[in-house]
Amino acid sequence: MTMTSTTGRPAPVDIEAGLIHVRRPADDTHLADLPLHRPADVAASGARLRAAQPEWERIGVRGRVRWLSRYRRWIVDNTDRLIALGAEEGGRVRNEPMLETTLLIELIDHYTRTAADLLKPKRIRVRSPLVLGKKLTEYRHPHPLVGVIGAWNFPMLLTIGDALPALFAGAAVLIKPSEVTPLAVRELVRGWQRIGAPAVLEAAYGGGDIGAAVVDEADFVQFTGSVATGRRVLERAAATITPVSLELGGKDPCLVLADANLERAANCAVYGGFANNGQVCMGFERVYVEDSVYDRFVELVVAKVAALRSGADDHSDIGALTFAPQLDTVTAHVREALDSGARALTGGHPLDRPGSWYAPTVLVDVDHTMTIMREETFGPVLPIVRVADAQEAIRLANDTEFGLSATVFTGDIDKAEQVAEQLEVGAVNINDFLINMTCVQASQGGWKRSGIGSRGSDHGLLKFTRTKVVARSRIPVGDSEINWFPYTSGRRRAFRSAIRLVHGRGLSRFGR
Ligand code: NDP
Repeated sequence: MTMTSTTGRPAPVDIEAGLIHVRRPADDTHLADLPLHRPADVAASGARLRAAQPEWERIGVRGRVRWLSRYRRWIVDNTDRLIALGAEEGGRVRNEPMLETTLLIELIDHYTRTAADLLKPKRIRVRSPLVLGKKLTEYRHPHPLVGVIGAWNFPMLLTIGDALPALFAGAAVLIKPSEVTPLAVRELVRGWQRIGAPAVLEAAYGGGDIGAAVVDEADFVQFTGSVATGRRVLERAAATITPVSLELGGKDPCLVLADANLERAANCAVYGGFANNGQVCMGFERVYVEDSVYDRFVELVVAKVAALRSGADDHSDIGALTFAPQLDTVTAHVREALDSGARALTGGHPLDRPGSWYAPTVLVDVDHTMTIMREETFGPVLPIVRVADAQEAIRLANDTEFGLSATVFTGDIDKAEQVAEQLEVGAVNINDFLINMTCVQASQGGWKRSGIGSRGSDHGLLKFTRTKVVARSRIPVGDSEINWFPYTSGRRRAFRSAIRLVHGRGLSRFGR
């Protein structure tokens, strides 16, 4: 059965033919066919990866770093091809997939520098009389098989980008890219094979059933996608108590205070709202502007948005919507807002051309009763709200179930820090956009329903490991310990004296 979207276009999974039809969102033409995997194929992949993983773990961090450095060279040598593929299958301007390949390299460089230290055994300093004379060491062991399920908006970064720290940690990785954009990921997996690296990286291609099979197969699940699917992944993983890390949707706010550099704020709001055609989990989906600068800010933004060039070539700014049904969501959100009293100062309609195109849109007179202010739109739409002051901006910014990141514009850094303190999000960029995501040394994770866990930084690697503590005695042990059975008054006194000696202060250490 070939499924069709509400726009009438064929959806990519063709179960009857056993194929994924990948289309070019820019003109809705056929790009490539991929064999569709079945759940049994996922189980077979899992078995192969599990067989290869122990040797991958055994070669240690230095051995793994050698392979990942070779992989880095392969990515650099193939960057142009990967970018071209990412642009074509996503209907995106090449600047967007270029960000992905750049971050893949940065991730390899970062964990090449830090993995050995993060993974080395840690001596645990002991003080407690309960463990006097013991030596404790904490070891890190990888989850043997990590399943990585990714979304279509940054397909390389959201799959390979998470696979890399897992590989550094010593895990084998099974990737499930979105069926909408599997081609660049397939090339990256082939690249791993081409350099002759150990067979610890595979991909399974298909829709939700394949994603579910990966959840069943994996020892740890790294998921990026919508809140609705994230919930399904969490429920499924609960059956086997499989740990998960979830990077989910957002509705990120941008706050513009009266003392902001308005030219920078407007440029950044337009970039933050329309980069990757608004298909960025941390893209601006709501802008709150202080009353006294509202009119000027809106004027600046509208002029800049009206100047954006829609197209998928190198002379364009924003491309097509990658996932065709997304056009229905964007259209419905804007239509409902307009019907409820909002005004589109530019755009407000799909573009009349083949493919999935929507005109870059600025909306005003919006409020929080409208879907466009509450649910993720994930398209080229920037709703702007007038607010009385910073406190109202903060209140409205926090009035959401999401909590990925936020931006605040102000000329007063102390004020910006105070606003940042009050925002319920995983990151705040001051007078900027997406800095925490483009800095792999920083953690990136969501509050509230935007996720569990984070990527980047130390945790981005350590989450793929389990700890094991090994305890032994520093001194030869006798037949028993003073806190073991039998509980005699003599042993109790000796134990009490030891506790007092360690925890007491001054003379009380000696019972005085
Ligand atoms: P979806 O939740 O629809 O899909 C995400 C992935 O899950 C896809 O590979 C999908 O497969 C797969 N999937 C579908 N059903 C299941 C299932 N039952 N079990 C396991 N896997 C399943 O998200 P989108 O692809 O539409 O991506 C957009 C969303 O991703 C937005 O909400 C966006 O905010 C979020 N996102 C979050 C980021 C973050 O870091 N927080 C970064 C980027 C995006 P298939 O596509 O083949 O159906």
